[in-house]
Amino acid sequence: MMNVPLLDLNAQYENILAEIKTEMEKVFTTHAYKLGPQVTEFEKTVSDFCQVKHAVGCASGTDALVLALLALGIGDNDEVITSPFTFFATAGTIHRVGAKPVFADIRPDTFNLDPEKIEKAITSKTKAIMPVHLFGQPADMNSIKSIARKYDLKIIEDNAQGIGAKFAGKTAGTIGDIGTLSFFPSKNLGAMGDAGMCLTNSDALADKLLMLRVHGENPQYYHRWVGLNSRLDTIQAAVLLVKIRYLQNWSEARRKNAEYYNQKLAGIPQIKLPVIHPEAESIYNQYTIRATRRDELKNFLQAHGVGCAVYYPLSLHLQECFSYLGHKPGDFPNCEQATSEVLSIPVYSEMTKIQQDYVIDQIRDFYNRE
Ligand SMILES: *Cc1c(COP(=O)(O)O)cnc(C)c1O
Repeated sequence: MMNVPLLDLNAQYENILAEIKTEMEKVFTTHAYKLGPQVTEFEKTVSDFCQVKHAVGCASGTDALVLALLALGIGDNDEVITSPFTFFATAGTIHRVGAKPVFADIRPDTFNLDPEKIEKAITSKTKAIMPVHLFGQPADMNSIKSIARKYDLKIIEDNAQGIGAKFAGKTAGTIGDIGTLSFFPSKNLGAMGDAGMCLTNSDALADKLLMLRVHGENPQYYHRWVGLNSRLDTIQAAVLLVKIRYLQNWSEARRKNAEYYNQKLAGIPQIKLPVIHPEAESIYNQYTIRATRRDELKNFLQAHGVGCAVYYPLSLHLQECFSYLGHKPGDFPNCEQATSEVLSIPVYSEMTKIQQDYVIDQIRDFYNRE
């Protein structure tokens, strides 16, 4: 039996750990743990990489969403439209700032917000749309932008899974008012712990974000806003400065792996392959199929050494903490169907062809046993 994990951090760090240790040592000689020079350098590197004017580091992708909402003045009595098919933080942060998460269903093909459903969810209280670039594929930002323009709404792109992805030639996370990034270890660019970032082309929003991440102060001990303690650690910036040099190659390797799956899995009638919008370029943070008898396939693959996972098993509108929103099963059928069919399989950059062929063979074997 071969072992193919969903993500192999050993393989990821094998060739770069020495380099990372050297950069970490530099931090230990200065002890500049709080917003040291590596943080500024990393922010500059990301803004160049994403072709955006400002990048403001913070403590996590979740905090980046909170900071973005606060910077845009979103809070009590406001509504923010988002997807019910995403990691919890997307809607959790909207609730956390006092606003109401309003869900709109996803498209059945791309798993991303359906622009038509967004328009139907708009009320007089809607302040913003928060599209999620799920699994590394940008949502339909042309349509979302024109809706935002028509109704005078802000856009916060939850780009935690999509660093470097593109839509219509533009970098994900730089198309709306503010875009966020997460450097959680399993994202395409992962820290050795938690870290996040906000991207914006607005000077005014960047200034506000810089204050909000340090309790809204400027100068020190003078508070214009009530913010958070959410700095990007210098140590994490040092790690990420090394890793971002490899990011383009890593994402290209994921794309190649995805293309290989697309070819080799195409003939299996019991599964549906990921669909990429013609204007979108995915970075494949996940390669997510829809599978007949999904749970059985998942157990079979795991029993045969293949890492796989369900992102996500329960729609956000049906989560216990959101019962106050009054939703019931059937409210967002595309999302609910996705939760019962999706399975993410290994697509990480360092995966070998032998490993990929093994994953493909196991999926074939499972359905051939019928
Ligand atoms: C990972 C993730 C987040 C949160 O990022 P953290 O760094 O873990 O706080 C938010 N939204 C989505 C879609 C994510 O995948």
